[in-house]
Amino acid sequence: MTDRRVVGVDVGGTKILAGIVDPAGQIEHRRERPTDLDSQERLIDEIGTAVDELLDDSVAAVGLGLPSRIDQQAGRVDGSVNIPLADVPLRQLMTERFGRPVALENDGNAAALAEHRAGAGRGARTIVMLTLGTGVGGGVVLDGRLLRDGGELGHTVLVYDGLPCQGTCTGRGHLEAYVSGTAAAKLAQQAFGPAVDAHRLVRLAAEGDATAIEILDGIGRKLGSAIAGFVNIFRPQLVVIGGGFASAGDFLLGPARETMHRDALPPANERVEIVRAELGTAAGVIGAALVAYDELG
Ligand SMILES: [Zn+2]
Repeated sequence: MTDRRVVGVDVGGTKILAGIVDPAGQIEHRRERPTDLDSQERLIDEIGTAVDELLDDSVAAVGLGLPSRIDQQAGRVDGSVNIPLADVPLRQLMTERFGRPVALENDGNAAALAEHRAGAGRGARTIVMLTLGTGVGGGVVLDGRLLRDGGELGHTVLVYDGLPCQGTCTGRGHLEAYVSGTAAAKLAQQAFGPAVDAHRLVRLAAEGDATAIEILDGIGRKLGSAIAGFVNIFRPQLVVIGGGFASAGDFLLGPARETMHRDALPPANERVEIVRAELGTAAGVIGAALVAYDELG
């Protein structure tokens, strides 16, 4: 059984990443394609193609990480905020296509499992992970076990009657509307003009631009307040921040730590650490594969 391997896939709002992952969480080969957002049919086909490129006789299973709400019992994707995937029995469709067992997992949950087993969360019993990208993903490993259903931490309500959320989410005041890379880009464009995105905002802050630093500080404080809520609920040892917008580093995490210390209850508020993820963009691929390994048993 030692040569049994798994393909992990991370379907994001802009690209599909896929790789062959060994049981320790090391990626052996990786592929990247743009996410086709035109229709559900095209998207499913793109996911299939990304996996086909990696399938060989050594691959025993496929794990798909999706920015979606998943019914694990039925193997269905119920809905997604930032990609066109809803009401589809994806596990069955993909099992038939690949001729192998297929595991589905929410991408934030997958990233949390990966960071816990092979990244920043190694050794911690309980971690909360937030991924800041197009949207805000999240996942919780509680006493060493991934919480599989739920985990939509990005759609927790931060502000009553606040900003409308994005994509297909009709909620208001959700964390995602305040701390995602998309939310940061909106604030950056108001301050600096339409060509400035979240990456440019972070670069401006690194160059010492006071307005850029202030924008990131404001986002970081909201992030810290939300984290305080998660700390009060789950009492993690560690809160891990990943996703593309985590590149803002301490411009974001410094104010987040301050606000978390203020808003979370003692003694957890003094003990919990907020750190950056270690696995970078690979976390989703690794986590999706680890879920599939776990299901293989
Ligand atoms: Zn939302």
